[in-house]
Amino acid sequence: MYKIMIDPGHGGKDRANRGPTGYVEADGVLDISLKLKDELVATGAFEVKLTRETDATLGVRARGKMAASWGADMFISEHTNSSGLASNTTVRGTEVYTSVDLKDDALGAEMAKAVAESIGTKNIGAKKRKSNNNPEEDYYAVIDEAQDGGVAHILLIESAFHDNKDDEALLKDDGKRAAIAKAQAAVICKFYGVSVEEEKKLNWRQKIVQEALDLGLITDKTWVDKADETSSIWFVCAIAISMYKKLKG
Ligand SMILES: [Zn+2]
Repeated sequence: MYKIMIDPGHGGKDRANRGPTGYVEADGVLDISLKLKDELVATGAFEVKLTRETDATLGVRARGKMAASWGADMFISEHTNSSGLASNTTVRGTEVYTSVDLKDDALGAEMAKAVAESIGTKNIGAKKRKSNNNPEEDYYAVIDEAQDGGVAHILLIESAFHDNKDDEALLKDDGKRAAIAKAQAAVICKFYGVSVEEEKKLNWRQKIVQEALDLGLITDKTWVDKADETSSIWFVCAIAISMYKKLKG
C-alpha cells in the first residue's frame, strides 16, 4: 500500500483567501481533498491521511512534518490561487509546485495538465520556487518540511485562481471539484502503476452482476456499475431472458 498524505491548505483562523462571489479557499480545498481521498481509497492500493479533516488551524511546517513522520510516499498540498491583482480578469489556470530537491517535474507537469483539462481552464504547468535565503531549499515551508523529512514525492497543487471570476465559478461547482479530484487520482494511480478499474473493490451487488458477467449470462460490462441503481426488476428480467435463451438454445 502506498501512503498518500493530502493537505487541505489553510482553515480555522486562516480563512481570508476568498473569491469575489463567496468561494473560500479553506473550504474548497478541504472538499477536493476529501473527494481525492475517496477516489484513492476506492482503488484499494492506497493508505490515505489528511492533515486536517475539519475547518482546523494548522501551521504550514506542522503539515509537512505530519507527512514525513507518518512516512508518506507522496505529499499532496491542495490550494487554490490568487493573482494579487486588485481585480483579476486575466489570470486563470492550474499550476503545480514541486520541490527544488526532487525530480518530480514530469509528475508535476502531468498533474497540472490533467487538472486544467478536467475543468477547462488554462494549463500553466509545473514550477519550482527556491527559498530567498537558501537556493537549495524550497520557498514554500510546507514543501520544504516534507522534503527535509524524507517524503519522496511532493506536489503543491493550485487547481485554479479563486480571485478570477471564471475560475471561481469552476471552484464553486461541486461537480468540477469532483472532476479535479478524479483527475488528480488518475495521475497518482498512473504514477504508481495502479489500475483504477482493476483494483476497484466491488460491493456485494456488483459482485453478483460480475458473476453473471463471468458466467456469460449477461454481456454488458457497464451493468457492474449499474448494480447500485435501485430499480432492478429490468435486470432480473434480463437475466431470466438470458437464461431462458441459453437453456433453450
Ligand atoms: Zn493557499
